[in-house]
Amino acid sequence: MSFSTLGLSAPILDALKEQGYTNPTPIQAQAIPAIMAGKDVMAAAQTGTGKTAGFTLPILERLAAGKPAGANQARTLILTPTRELAAQVAESVATYSKGMKLSSTVVFGGVKINPQMMKLRRGVDILVATPGRLIDLFNQNAVKFNQLEVLVLDEADRMLDMGFIHDIKKILKILPPKRQNLLFSATFSNDIRKLARGLVNNPVEISVSPPNAAAPSVEQKVYKVEKAQKPALLVQLIKDNNWFQALVFTKTKHGANKLTQQLEASGFQAAAIHGNKSQGARTKALAGFKDGSVQILVATDIAARGLDIDQLPQVVNYELPNVAEDYVHRIGRTGRAGSTGQAISLVSEEEIKLLRSIERLIKKTLVVEALPAFDKTLAKLPPRNKPSAKPATRKPTPARQKPASKKPRIRKPAPKKES
Ligand code: AMP
Repeated sequence: MSFSTLGLSAPILDALKEQGYTNPTPIQAQAIPAIMAGKDVMAAAQTGTGKTAGFTLPILERLAAGKPAGANQARTLILTPTRELAAQVAESVATYSKGMKLSSTVVFGGVKINPQMMKLRRGVDILVATPGRLIDLFNQNAVKFNQLEVLVLDEADRMLDMGFIHDIKKILKILPPKRQNLLFSATFSNDIRKLARGLVNNPVEISVSPPNAAAPSVEQKVYKVEKAQKPALLVQLIKDNNWFQALVFTKTKHGANKLTQQLEASGFQAAAIHGNKSQGARTKALAGFKDGSVQILVATDIAARGLDIDQLPQVVNYELPNVAEDYVHRIGRTGRAGSTGQAISLVSEEEIKLLRSIERLIKKTLVVEALPAFDKTLAKLPPRNKPSAKPATRKPTPARQKPASKKPRIRKPAPKKES
């Protein structure tokens, strides 16, 4: 299937060609026709599937056919959970609408509100926003929704995780009831379905990847290591493998800062990105990481959500996340849209339980690797099963071979289950 068979017009096809996209990804092939038909859509798609273009392209088609936005009006509202994701979505919108007479802008907190108010004065066809700042702007009459045609909730599951439910409800109340609604989420949890009930009308449901599955193009490995040895092991891995661009996850903001300092002391260009950093520092770190001047970006889960770095080759879980689903989100940063990637987890004895719950979730036992210099630590850790790609579900146990006991058994042996 090609993009032209989806009925997209010439300026969009040109922009896609310029990006080097040849064929629509599965989410695009399904979402674009449904959205162009004016339907509400509920799509389960992880980051990296091409979902942004999946909703942006048909929205651009729709907007191009209608009336331009009046003063302070927004014709489309795209809500995202994080500033980084908002900036990235806005960048994609600008890229795809390059040859069109449509306007777009992005607003989020952590930076001055005035320039954002100025940009909204003339009205915009597409507004990308994080919830809190959008409400502030609305309260100051800087944005109006009388002309709103389309609402997109991007990464809705993460918005709920981050506690945005009240903000979302407030925003829904100020939007005109007649509009097209598009809800994108990595998974359809019960909470998402509850949110959807008050949001989408008779939606087309699309699911392109089984929930909680990692992209098959991501190679996943585990290194078992003592907690105290983690910085040394990470340094060794970076050197041995010549990692030129690796995203490293820590559990805490403090942990991210500390590791960044340790990496810098070892001679690497590293930067941290987390919620306590100013917006300026976050943007600078991300830009440096994208242009190659920052080799290692150390991030916490929330800050890294939605980061889209083209063909990121390497993700490292320096610490495993407490919530197994976050592992899937983390490693979704690599192996995106068809490219291959590698995700390595450094796992200490304290984290074995977390590792097991991740393996249960992804239905896969992860391959364990060793570095000779860290062998000593391996010997101390509990033995584990052989790696296998089989689902970690429990099978009915066939008649087991019991070890010979010294005492003769008095009871009759249980009948064998197998014939
Ligand atoms: P997303 O899931 O929207 O964050 O997109 C993930 C990445 O896939 C982005 O870097 C896009 O530029 C890229 N992408 C989106 N659509 C396509 C396509 N049809 N072919 C190749 N790459 C794409």
